[in-house]
Amino acid sequence: MNRAASDTTGTAQPALDIQGIRKSYGKLEALKGIDLTIQQGEFFGLLGPNGAGKSTLINTIAGLTRPDSGRVQVLGHDTVADYRHARRNIGVVPQELVYDPFFTVEEVVGNQAGYFGVRGNDAWISELLKALDLDDKRDSNLRQLSGGMKRRVLIAQALAHKPPIAILDEPTAGVDVELRQGLWRFAQRLNREGMTVVLTTHYLEEAEELCDRIAIIHHGQVQALDSKEALLHRDTRRSMEVELADPEAEIPASVTPFLMERDGGWMRLQFNREEQSPVALLNQLQEAGLTISDLQTRSPSLEDIFLDLTGEQLAPEEVT
Ligand code: ADP
Ligand code: MG
Repeated sequence: MNRAASDTTGTAQPALDIQGIRKSYGKLEALKGIDLTIQQGEFFGLLGPNGAGKSTLINTIAGLTRPDSGRVQVLGHDTVADYRHARRNIGVVPQELVYDPFFTVEEVVGNQAGYFGVRGNDAWISELLKALDLDDKRDSNLRQLSGGMKRRVLIAQALAHKPPIAILDEPTAGVDVELRQGLWRFAQRLNREGMTVVLTTHYLEEAEELCDRIAIIHHGQVQALDSKEALLHRDTRRSMEVELADPEAEIPASVTPFLMERDGGWMRLQFNREEQSPVALLNQLQEAGLTISDLQTRSPSLEDIFLDLTGEQLAPEEVT
């Protein structure tokens, strides 16, 4: 297959076509058959707790880990049979920050472009260093840089050859809030400019903020795969907090099946939006002569959906 981004039928080639990937480490099945197709231009999120298999999958896509079975194609190039072409089309920022402390920022980034046979892209490298706020660190050795800066250098390094696909494995784990926001803006900009971005994260907030489509992975399997909106919408549970003027009020029998908690005039009602209209519940309260003094409704978050799918919570927000 040639390097063109579309095949002969004119339909766009997927950025990543992942079929039936299995990988075990001894008895541990890290990936239990992953199928995923990621289209060009997507901002795709692989969301899962620590140990879910995200990095194993990323390393398989990068051709660093050989799957026991299954295959990955990067813009039509098989990561095993056609490793060089496949690899050249992706920029992978690994979770583990591995670097050579004796090189300067400029050398590290320039060498990487050279490795992929890309020369004369100084304009792009300058742009990268500027966008990542590394402009004045070009001549610094990596060992002189802070952890956050090292991470940014590794991102510049991974993207030095201007690949069409960027793969970021937990780019913001353990980084401070300011850098996290900066990296989000940077990734969004790359995506707007046409780069396909695949991001792994255990931060729900990050997936919710950035990704158009999300695969929730857990115990080496895709538990859910959908657009962010559809994932959020398919949970039909709703909850409503109602404050009644009278703390002693007697709740009508038609409403009590939905009553989850009550504390004086405050109560929380839970219902399924497909079976029960919230307006009808409020009407029943008012018809019973009760005065509603305050009201709040809540839709499920990705956190609720994740909990529901896996029975587990994602890692709590790290203190930085
Ligand atoms: P995640 O990136 O989602 O946190 P990983 O892909 O790193 O998950 O790990 C998935 C599972 O595979 C974990 O149980 C992990 O301990 C195990 N694992 C990953 N890499 C290796 C390895 N090189 N050798 C043995 N076990 C591994
Ligand atoms: Mg990982």
